[in-house]
Amino acid sequence: MHCKTFHKKKIVIIFTACILMMGILGGRLVYLMIFESEYYQKLAQDLHERERSIKAARGRIIDRTGTVLADNRTVCTISVIHSQIKDPEAVIQMLCKELELSEETVRRRVEKVSSIERIKSNVDKEVGDAIRAYQYEGVKVDEDFKRYYPYNELASKVLGFTGSDNQGIIGLEVKYDEYLEGISGTILTLTDARGVEIENAKEERMESIPGNDLIISLDYNIQSYAQQEALRVMEAKQADYVSILIMNPQNGEIYACVNVPEFNLNDPFTLNSGVSTEGMTEQQKQDALNQMWRNQCVNDTYEPGSTFKVFTSSAALMSKTTSVNDQFSCPGFKIVEDRRIRCHKVGGHGGQDFTHAIMNSCNLYIQ
Ligand SMILES: [Zn+2]
Repeated sequence: MHCKTFHKKKIVIIFTACILMMGILGGRLVYLMIFESEYYQKLAQDLHERERSIKAARGRIIDRTGTVLADNRTVCTISVIHSQIKDPEAVIQMLCKELELSEETVRRRVEKVSSIERIKSNVDKEVGDAIRAYQYEGVKVDEDFKRYYPYNELASKVLGFTGSDNQGIIGLEVKYDEYLEGISGTILTLTDARGVEIENAKEERMESIPGNDLIISLDYNIQSYAQQEALRVMEAKQADYVSILIMNPQNGEIYACVNVPEFNLNDPFTLNSGVSTEGMTEQQKQDALNQMWRNQCVNDTYEPGSTFKVFTSSAALMSKTTSVNDQFSCPGFKIVEDRRIRCHKVGGHGGQDFTHAIMNSCNLYIQ
């Protein structure tokens, strides 16, 4: 009798423990299947689908004469698929040779167990074709586009350039990025759990959509001519920089916007001064580059000075507050309110009429 109660107790304890454990496991199951399902589904999908992106062709930048100022060049991205490589040593040697990379870099990427590993992007098409010709299994050569500026320095600070992912960094390239960039496509391949492509499973391609072309008011010929002139003036005056802005006053269209020294858009991270960025801190380097990329026409203020005398003197004539024959004396300065305005001629221009004041560009008379 005594013994039986003891057994009964034991059974109840074990039974309760079993129920509790099943409850915990069941709860965990519910948690994984309902709350975490998205995460695991994605994980499985990543394993079974291999995605490679197809870069969209970026829209071109074209001037008013139809001259293409920013274009695309076909380049290749080289990747490896670990599970498909038959002879890793041969692949490593070939990639080192063709891509001019260190063996250590290539080996690390080739031997890494992943569904796809990018070795190098922005590879010249000729090199990509050469790699494709080896026909090594597990080596993928995908074509994409790289920004290319046919005229190197022309209107560099206006056009701007793009980064490694083809996104605009400065200038029109960043201002109109959303219109220019286009939409990337994808190549989707189904694989089994080991990453081997499933035979007969069709490759799904979502083609990329090219970006829009941007047509600007700039004129290639006027821009080139203005750039030559600016360079000539910079040389003659020993100036640090010279800017020229040519605008149609009827509608505000900009025909030319020059800021010399310009920089090479195909090599925007090399200083145009010839100074090496080596030994500079990251901050110094960035400051120097920002200075070089700066579009002075747009970013700097410049007091109109004597060029504005045309407007003030015309206004004075039109309002009849003065006439062409009015006499006026310039002692070299004039006190207006609390300040002393000086003429550029320290001793003063003396007596002069309106015509001579304009001829002398006398500060007191006209401003
Ligand atoms: Zn004067």
